[in-house]
Amino acid sequence: MSKPTQPMSDQQALRYSRHVMLPTVDFTGQERILAARVAIVGMGGLGCAVAPYLAGSGVGELILIDNDRIERSNLQRQILFREHNIGDSKAETAAATLRALNSEVKIQAISERLTRDNLEAVLVNSDVIVDCCDNLETRNLLNAFCWQQQIPLVSGAAIRFEGQVAVYPMTEDTPCYRCFSRLFGEQQLTCMEAGVFSPVVGVVGALQAVETLKLIAHVGETLSGAVLLYDGAHASWQRINLPKSPDCSVCANPRD
Ligand SMILES: [Zn+2]
Repeated sequence: MSKPTQPMSDQQALRYSRHVMLPTVDFTGQERILAARVAIVGMGGLGCAVAPYLAGSGVGELILIDNDRIERSNLQRQILFREHNIGDSKAETAAATLRALNSEVKIQAISERLTRDNLEAVLVNSDVIVDCCDNLETRNLLNAFCWQQQIPLVSGAAIRFEGQVAVYPMTEDTPCYRCFSRLFGEQQLTCMEAGVFSPVVGVVGALQAVETLKLIAHVGETLSGAVLLYDGAHASWQRINLPKSPDCSVCANPRD
């Protein structure tokens, strides 16, 4: 993930000064952020929370993937959308909002569902993939792809008052999403069926943005190999370290 970076202009040094003044980020960390390419899969509640922090922080290239259109019931928590956007593409609308926030970021909107057939073309060369999707099929596809390509996966989920964030660096000695779901079971319900408390998606999305930026700037200690659970109803947090499953159907196999 050590890409060639370019020195910042004076305008950029001013724009990102609050990052640069953090000793662990400094110019080097911000230049890494400016050179990074991040894909966000799903522009619902989580994606809408992750994306503005990544765009504001100057991530060089963002790929926004979602085949849905905006519905009235999305406005309760999908904060990049406005009432007049109902019926419009989520990916395109989010891209337009983010371009207004930071015109320096190259933003690509993909209004398609991610499938086995388009996965590689859409996600190749990403430095980090942020999983904000709401279905198991895509989650499992992403996990297998990230393992094969050695791309870190920052995964988030929110339902009812509960949220969870996990980071899978896809190294030999760390677990993948499949190792996690074998232990904890797979979340079958969606927020359409079970409901979700609006700001919980913001909490989870903001944490995904924190972990993503740390990964690309090489700062701090990421949540690698662990899951952070948030219970909004009781204001409590729990961090659980995840073991790697020795017979995981994904990461116990050698990469192709
Ligand atoms: Zn695994």
